[in-house]
Amino acid sequence: MDKLIVITGASSGIGKELAIQLNKKGYKLLLLARRVNLIEDLGLDNCMCKSVDVKNLKDFKNAIIEAESFFNLKVDLLVNNAGIMPLDKIYNLDIETQHEMIDINIKGVLNGMNCVINDMKNRKTGTIINISSVAGRWTSENRAIYNGTKFAVHAISEQSRRELAQFNVRVLTIAPAIVDTNLLSTTKNKEVLENYIEIKKKYNNGLTSEHVAKIIIYAYELPQEVSLKEIVLSSTSQPI
Ligand code: NDP
Repeated sequence: MDKLIVITGASSGIGKELAIQLNKKGYKLLLLARRVNLIEDLGLDNCMCKSVDVKNLKDFKNAIIEAESFFNLKVDLLVNNAGIMPLDKIYNLDIETQHEMIDINIKGVLNGMNCVINDMKNRKTGTIINISSVAGRWTSENRAIYNGTKFAVHAISEQSRRELAQFNVRVLTIAPAIVDTNLLSTTKNKEVLENYIEIKKKYNNGLTSEHVAKIIIYAYELPQEVSLKEIVLSSTSQPI
């Protein structure tokens, strides 16, 4: 498959599963995360693995330049998936953690888009998939900042899609409800964590990364002239 795909946050959860499924299909991959050893341990072929923090635009750009030169292909799909979710009340979350969430979940997405957008526009093809959340549609307890970041991802993606439509570039927002991953690893408040785990149990642990990866691939593999704008998904048992 002569297409180059970039995935951020490929060391865990949704990004990791997406990398595995796309690799099976033969796509060429640039896989990014800070813990690059976890990606390398997957032992995937046709892949370039780079330790890139999405906050660092220069490293992000250099990794893409290197992969495009190595595979002799331009990026056809960018999946902005990296994200963190330290849950707590706004008055409990220290400002550094709040800023970190903004920097990774919003600025990280902007950095990714900045790396590929003009090239896709000039070539009149390409797809950008931004992983938002149902938290980008509805606010809820302990998510004031996380909601803010995902509302931003929704808004940025939607308006970018409109502005890039005339250039045949697709922008898709994926908004999952609970997915069974390590996303809670940055939540430090024990009570908040326990409540979340209880809710998750109620919904049979939510979606799996396999489910979400399949949906992403389905949307991507539609013909370039078909643009799914937003996909909101949850396990059937989860009402929101
Ligand atoms: P995981 O914690 O399993 O994976 C998160 C990934 O993001 C990791 O690979 C991590 O890699 C990467 N990451 C975090 N910070 C950075 C950074 N600064 N630079 C580069 N990579 C980074 O969680 P999920 O798979 O669940 O999360 C993926 C996306 O899905 C997130 O955007 C999340 O908000 C969204 N989402 C998740 C839901 C869920 O219930 N799980 C529901 C809705 C949306 P590393 O630490 O190695 O850098």
